[in-house]
Amino acid sequence: MEENRNKSIKGIKIRSLNLAMIFVACILYLLLIYATFYASHYFSNLVSATEQFVTCEHNADLVQEYSDYLTEQARLYALTGKSEYLEAYFREILIDQNREAAIDALRSHHADDEAFIHLQEALDKSNELVGREIYSMMLVSEASGHHLKDLLSELPIDIPEEIQNMELSSADLLLNSEEMTDKAHDIVFGASYQEVKLNIETNVSYFLTHILDTHKKLQTDSTLDLKKALTRQQVLISILFVENVLTFIMIIQLIVKPLQIYVNNIKDEKKLEIIGSYEFKYLALTYNSIYELNTANEATLRYQAEHDPLTGIINRGAFDKLKQFFQLNPKPLAFLIIDVDKFKLINDGYGHEVGDMVLKKVARLLEESFRATDYPARIGGDEFAIIIADVSPDLAPMIQSKIVAMNETLMNPSDSLPKVSLSVGGAFSELGFTDDLYQRADTALYHVKEHGRCGCRFYEELEEQ
Ligand code: GH3
Ligand code: MG
Repeated sequence: MEENRNKSIKGIKIRSLNLAMIFVACILYLLLIYATFYASHYFSNLVSATEQFVTCEHNADLVQEYSDYLTEQARLYALTGKSEYLEAYFREILIDQNREAAIDALRSHHADDEAFIHLQEALDKSNELVGREIYSMMLVSEASGHHLKDLLSELPIDIPEEIQNMELSSADLLLNSEEMTDKAHDIVFGASYQEVKLNIETNVSYFLTHILDTHKKLQTDSTLDLKKALTRQQVLISILFVENVLTFIMIIQLIVKPLQIYVNNIKDEKKLEIIGSYEFKYLALTYNSIYELNTANEATLRYQAEHDPLTGIINRGAFDKLKQFFQLNPKPLAFLIIDVDKFKLINDGYGHEVGDMVLKKVARLLEESFRATDYPARIGGDEFAIIIADVSPDLAPMIQSKIVAMNETLMNPSDSLPKVSLSVGGAFSELGFTDDLYQRADTALYHVKEHGRCGCRFYEELEEQ
């Protein structure tokens, strides 16, 4: 039976569904972690590309800025001859060295970069100008009657030998101070100088343009990668959301709803509906078969408790309950006590089994002769009783004629059973089963027994006599 039940049930198993949902959720979460890791990786790339660009731009600007700074100091010295410009100039080229520092900062990341050569070239050109600028300074010093070497020795800076040993050409030494000043100006303001300055600017600008292009591409690639990773994340989160919603729907359909319905079924004392998951269907089918068995057992027990096992009509206990019902419902009725005449003789003469068959025959005749609602009952060995509802004393002859017909049948048996007759005592009540009703019917029965048996008399008739 259990195997049949197993086979007949079709439905989703909660255990399998649970495992599948957990498995799918784990995969989705792993993919989400993976996508999140890549999103943060691409984001770092984007940030680092931006930072690199800012660093490059800053350092390239420094090369240009300090090249211009040197030019400015050299020009100011050429114009004013003030030693403070000399000091600022040499501090920059010998101590601070901002141009070299800027290039060194970029060397580690961009040494192999094609554009880096241009920045290097800008520095070389700037250094080429340094030679010219120092020569211009020497001319300015010489024009004012000093040697640059002497002026430099007064500065708080160590000047390398090669600068100290630089000398003016013999042709320039022959120039007068005005010519020397003019030439010095020409060196730092002249077209040749400007040309090299332009060259420096061009190289720096080429480097910047190239770096801008490279980083733009880097940024675009990183942005695209980041967008893809974020889209992957969004898709995964959406799938996870759908998976969660599906899980909730499944839980409601397969577990919560069946549980609610089962609770209501049990409250209403009904069988369980076959719904929900495989486990719930199995539970419902098992419950239902136990329920059916219980109901059948209960019905059998109740039947056995209320019915006489020999005749199948209701027994004394059930009859007493019926009496109580009619005690509480005050409506007109007739009550009959039916006793088999000389029954002892049947038992003695034909045996107990034949006696039983006679009792069964009497019970069947009672059922056939009266309405189903009249409830014939066996209240003792050969004693029966019947409550006939909704009748008044004027129906006494009708009831008596039924008894006469029964006695005729019993006295002229068409079966092999012996002849028997019934003595019946009855009484009427207007107000249900009153306390003295039994006694009155019993008195009438006693009367019939005393007056030849095989008949039916009502207590009310005896009173009239
Ligand atoms: P009366 O006309 O005065 O009623 O005479 P009676 O012989 O019928 O006397 P009584 O009613 O006292 O006898 C009832 C007999 O019914 C006594 C008992 O042995 C018998 N009896 C009781 N229950 C059963 C039963 O279940 N089966 C059979 N066969 N006999 C039973
Ligand atoms: Mg009897």
